Amino acid sequence: MGTIRAAYRHVLHRIIQHPDTDITHEAQCLSCAWEASPSTDAAAVDVECMSHTGRSNHRSFRRVCTSFTFVVRDEPRETPGMPRDGEEHSRPREGSATTA
Ligand SMILES: [Zn+2]
Repeated sequence: MGTIRAAYRHVLHRIIQHPDTDITHEAQCLSCAWEASPSTDAAAVDVECMSHTGRSNHRSFRRVCTSFTFVVRDEPRETPGMPRDGEEHSRPREGSATTA
């Protein structure tokens, strides 16, 4: 096997929560067709589930949490004003030990 030399431009990216979005919480009863009203407030969905349990004695729910993310190039000139938070997904160099 010959040596394969890969020449590629190393571009750092990072993923952030999509601007102007919140995590949406949903719940579906596993015993009937009831669903909680989707909300960005997880506690509100919990209360709806407990209220449903009080009415129906149904106790199992499927929770769904939906969030939106956004991948950005981690280059200062493309993200002016955005702090570099040290969460860069840099690729470890070949042969280097990665265990801490
Ligand atoms: Zn139910």
